[in-house]
Amino acid sequence: MKPDYDVVIIGGGAAGLSAALYAVRAQLKTVVIEKLACGGQILTTDVIENYPGFPQGIKGPDLAKLMEEQAARFGSQVIYDQVEKLDVGGKVKAVIGAEKTYTARAVIIATGGEHNKLGVPGEEEYAGRGVSYCATCDGNFFANMPVVVIGGGDAAIDEGLYLTRLAQQVTVVHRRDELRASKVLQERALASPKMDFLWSHVVREVRGNSEVDRLLVEDVKTGKQREFPTKGVFIYVGFHPATESLKSSAVPLDKAGHVITNIRMETAIPGVFACGDVRQFSDRQLGSAVGDGITAALSAYRYITEGPEG
Ligand code: NAP
Repeated sequence: MKPDYDVVIIGGGAAGLSAALYAVRAQLKTVVIEKLACGGQILTTDVIENYPGFPQGIKGPDLAKLMEEQAARFGSQVIYDQVEKLDVGGKVKAVIGAEKTYTARAVIIATGGEHNKLGVPGEEEYAGRGVSYCATCDGNFFANMPVVVIGGGDAAIDEGLYLTRLAQQVTVVHRRDELRASKVLQERALASPKMDFLWSHVVREVRGNSEVDRLLVEDVKTGKQREFPTKGVFIYVGFHPATESLKSSAVPLDKAGHVITNIRMETAIPGVFACGDVRQFSDRQLGSAVGDGITAALSAYRYITEGPEG
């Protein structure tokens, strides 16, 4: 059976779009299957300052659009569909979507990941009514109001700093007394008059009436609990790989659900590659996702033109 495509790329984030650019420029018939909108995490990032070539930084959505346009210019196609399953054991690989099945000679998995949930009472109940996972999407709803950011990593501090431009005050609730975020972000956060910190505290419950109006927080050193008033809660407590659709396939995953690859982005299954945040040991940076995507496309090209031993 002749497959529909040379390469199906699952996921239209930075890794997937970079893979698409290199695949189409190698004249492989390529499609990107994306569930929502191309860009992945950069789409929900205000300004990106650490991607080389943009000394003044670039707005995440602008960069996402440019990446998509660049891949499209050389013939890459994007189809919006939710991938549900893979059947990749044979020579012709099948990517099974909610709408349709896509067949190809090679598959590149670039599904990235999703924000972790905190897992406390009230989090789900108040989602969209004060609880958010995206400051750049929802920050405007909290203009001149006090908000809380939960977490101490790059995402929490980056998005928290963005919120200082809109909100009245941004309180970072972190479970330790030291941030994990990069030094440059830490310095900015500590210098911001609109950001303060509730160190060594965890959130036990999100409370409110029709909308969030307070949190139940606990001092992890003393075990003492109290209520903390706030209008908005932005949760940035890490990230997990989006590999639900791979679980019934033979693609090997590690314990945390990342796809296992070698440095050529090859999985143990010939013709199946993975790149970006979804793969094991990813640095989870935009630049490394782009590099991974390029390597995956070059490996797919070699596989298609030279066979699995190429
Ligand atoms: P992360 O680096 O894993 O940080 C997660 C933070 O959440 C940590 O501070 C962690 O605390 C805290 N946390 C985890 N589980 C928690 C829980 N149950 N309750 C309370 N706090 C909890 O994740 P991330 O910030 O999402 O970043 C993910 C990756 O994307 C990183 O590699 C990061 O560098 C990258 N990124 C980079 C930028 C940038 O460069 N500007 C922006 C966004 C993301 P502990 O510190 O105690 O573990």
